[in-house]
Order: sequence, then C-alpha cells, then structure tokens
Amino acid sequence: MNPNSAVKRVGLFTSGGDSPGMNAAIRAVVRSCIYYDLDIYGIRRGYAGMIEGDIFRMNSRSVSGIIQRGGTILKSARSMEFKTKEGRQKAFDNISKHDIDSMVVIGGDGSFRGAQAFEAEHGVKMVGVPGTIDNDLFGTDYTIGYDTATNTAVDAIDKIKDTADAHDRLFFVEVMGRDAGFIALKTGISCGAEAIMIPEDNMKLDELIDILKKGRPSKNSSIVVVAEGDNLGGAFVIAEKVKEQFQQYETKVTILGHLQRGGSPSCFDRVLASRLGLAAVEALMAGKSGIMVGQVHSDIIQTPLEQATKHGPRINQDLLRLAKIISI
Ligand code: ADP
Repeated sequence: MNPNSAVKRVGLFTSGGDSPGMNAAIRAVVRSCIYYDLDIYGIRRGYAGMIEGDIFRMNSRSVSGIIQRGGTILKSARSMEFKTKEGRQKAFDNISKHDIDSMVVIGGDGSFRGAQAFEAEHGVKMVGVPGTIDNDLFGTDYTIGYDTATNTAVDAIDKIKDTADAHDRLFFVEVMGRDAGFIALKTGISCGAEAIMIPEDNMKLDELIDILKKGRPSKNSSIVVVAEGDNLGGAFVIAEKVKEQFQQYETKVTILGHLQRGGSPSCFDRVLASRLGLAAVEALMAGKSGIMVGQVHSDIIQTPLEQATKHGPRINQDLLRLAKIISI
C-alpha cells in the first residue's frame, strides 16, 4: 500500500470496440501500479465481466510478452445490462468485494459514458485511456490503435492498387469510420486515391463522377476510398451508381472491415499506450477522477470525460484540401 496515493486498489478493463495497442496500455497500467505499490485487479470483458464478477489480481508477469500483440488479453465486450441502474449496482457490488476504489477504463466514447454514470452513482474514481481506432475523441491528438489501423488500411489498399492497375479497374475501398472520416482521409492521401468520401465532407455523386471523368482518360486504374459512414450509403451503393456512367471499366468493391482492428500495434501506438497507461495511474494517485488522459502536441493532458465524449475532434480541412489538389 502506498500512503501517498489517493487510491489503493485499481481495477482495469478494456471495453467496447477493441484496438491494437490496448495490450500495451494494459501492460503500462499494471506495471505502473506495481511500481507505485498499488494493488491492481483485471476485469475480463469490460462492463459485462464486472457484472458477472470476472475479476482477478494481476502482477508484473501477468503482462509479460504482450506489448507487441493486437487485441486485448482482458477481452472486450458490450453490455446492455450496464446501461441500467440495476446492472451498474451489480457491477459495484462485485468490485466492492475486492475493495476496488478506482478504475482505469481503456475504450472509446461509449465506454467513457458508462464510466461517467458509474462514478456519478457509486463514487468510484474513474480515469479513461482512449483506445479506439476511430480517433474520434476530444482531448487527444491520437487515440490508441488509430495509427496501426491506418497503416493496415494503407498496406491493404497498396495491394489492391496493384491488381487495379493490371486490369484497368475502378476500385471502391471502404474503410472503418461510422461517424468519422479520419481513417479514410489519411489512408486516401497515403494511397493516392482519386477521391475520398467521408461523412464530414458530404461530397455529392455528381462531383465524384466529375473527378473520375477528368482522371479516367489518362489513368488506367482508380481508387476511391469510402468511409463506412459516408452519406451516400457506403461503397457498394456508390459503386452501383457510378457503374452506370463508366460501363467500359470494371468496377470493384472491397470492404476492409475488421482486419483494420487486428495486427501488431505500430511503434507509435505502443509508445502512446505506454505513456497514457502511466499517466492514468498517476492521475488516480493524485486524486483525479472523471477524466481522460490524452496526448496533445506530444504533451500529456487531462480532459473531463464529459468533454472528451461530447466534442469530437474536427476533420483537418487542410488535409481535405490537399487530398483534392494532389489527386488530379
Ligand atoms: P466504445 O467504448 O468503443 O465507444 P460502446 O459504444 O459499445 O463502445 O460502449 C461500450 C459499453 O459502454 C456499452 O456496451 C455499455 O455497456 C457502456 N455504455 C455505453 N454508453 C453508456 C451509457 N450512456 N450509460 C452506461 N453505460 C454505457
């Protein structure tokens, strides 16, 4: 027990959509707790595991050899029951059996909303670590997993481009991002896409067709990167509509889907996760609660969970402009 710490027993879990680098964050939280003489308990499958009482003591060796592994050794889950008062009461009863007085939650905006509700009702100290491939949280330039996911998507689209070139094909590649176009924008620029369709830009079909028509005579293949949440209805719908105007070219659709969540985390994500894991533990020790730790301009900062979830970051208009200029 550390007499200088505001908390004594820390619970740790990963929640919601998994992302590469969560293991690196788990490792950093566990090792930081041990360094500071705090007891650390892992909870499997997020809020669902908390409700079922799937809680176990962790030590330094529990996190050996995981920094390079994708996924999460603590598993992740979604829990409808935790959205109810009764569910949260069960979760509280279970963590109370272990005298857990504080928690680190690694997840996205939904997980942080859950953390806010839990803290408000039961007074457990909660600190969030942003773990999501979507990069859609306010209070951090990057979320853990975003860098790896974009690199995975770039690697996949480079391969698609080879076959697109070989057959004069027009490819529509859909990447993840239900509400945000960050992955699509960055991968589209990196892969030299002809057009990038993201919810924030709201590009109309006519505009897309114009871009393709201008480029098509001189280019023998084209890639259009589409964010999952694009307003025109996704890659299949757009491809169908465009096909009617480009009958001479073969039109293909690839949905990258869950492969973007997997794989070994990048160096960037491992370092980010390690920094944020330590920052989360130090914030709890200093008596902080209801906050998310994040990295802005390479500094570690703290943002109230309420702000982190409510004010998503804006798309970088400079990048959007750049993408349009250099794709001609
Ligand atoms: P992510 O954290 O990746 O955004 P979800 O949106 O699925 O993932 O949220 C993860 C879990 O957080 C949900 O399954 C639910 O148990 C909990 N949660 C989300 N929103 C709330 C809320 N408003 N109140 C309580 N719990 C919530």
